[in-house]
Amino acid sequence: MHTDLKDKVVLITGAGKKSGIGCAMAKKFAELGSHIIIADYGNAKNFNADMETGTMDEMKSIAKEFGDQYHVKTLAVNVDVTSSDTIGKMMTRVRDNFERIDILCNNAGATFGVPNGIHTYDETAWMKTFDVNLHGVFRVSKAVVPMMEENGGSIINTASRAGKVPALFNGAYAVSKAGVIMLTKVMAKELAGLNIRVNAICPGQIMTSLEKWRFELEAKFLGTSVEEQEKKMCESIPMGRIGSPDEVADMAAFLASDASSYVTGQAINICGGQLMEL
Ligand code: NAD
Repeated sequence: MHTDLKDKVVLITGAGKKSGIGCAMAKKFAELGSHIIIADYGNAKNFNADMETGTMDEMKSIAKEFGDQYHVKTLAVNVDVTSSDTIGKMMTRVRDNFERIDILCNNAGATFGVPNGIHTYDETAWMKTFDVNLHGVFRVSKAVVPMMEENGGSIINTASRAGKVPALFNGAYAVSKAGVIMLTKVMAKELAGLNIRVNAICPGQIMTSLEKWRFELEAKFLGTSVEEQEKKMCESIPMGRIGSPDEVADMAAFLASDASSYVTGQAINICGGQLMEL
């Protein structure tokens, strides 16, 4: 399946945590014979969030494991998507190692300052959430598109179901992800002439450390247990279960491959039917 992805070069942001969606994407692309660039924050100490970030050790271990297992070229590179300076440094390392990029997965994401309603939300936390989730996609795409122009390519932005359905007390995340969906559509129109397709994926509930952290936070906030929160969530999903990072990675591979050659500007839900749209 997706044999056209062999020897393609794929850059994935937010791929530095073994439990995460980005790492599952890296594994899937490596399995299909693509060369992978694992880009992540890498310096958890300065992140200033409640969540963990990918560390340099973890990124290097992922790159080595997939390189050895699938015989593809891999690179682990530090980047903070809120900083054009670190993105510039990442691109220098990428250019030193690869001649082009064929596929970009803008997957890094975070949320700060939750739970809070709009009237109590800390302004710095609000801005920081946008800076990672929305402006990060803009910055990294701006840096990468020149390396795609000659041969065309595919860009896959990880948005969220929360970008389509209001997520309460997590407003900055929801609104920033809605922005990612519109940014995807603008980019798809602008880049179609360069043979670059741009799509967003909108995961619902996917079992990663971000999702576990969310259940813990909700349980604390509502005075229930993590198990109770997870059970309630599953009851709201027609398929009755939380999804896996691998299931999101399968969609990314489809959107990167020629199997989706006429698909651009779409925001595709992966949510076990939790959201159904006409
Ligand atoms: P995760 O925390 O494992 O992955 C997020 C990654 O982004 C981490 O590796 C983190 O280090 C990285 N990151 C955060 N800030 C960064 C920065 N400034 N620069 C570079 N890297 C940074 O969580 P995940 O669940 O795998 O999330 C991956 C993506 O999927 C995110 O965009 C998230 O919003 C989105 N998403 C997840 C779910 C879910 O249920 N897990 C649902 C919808 C959307």
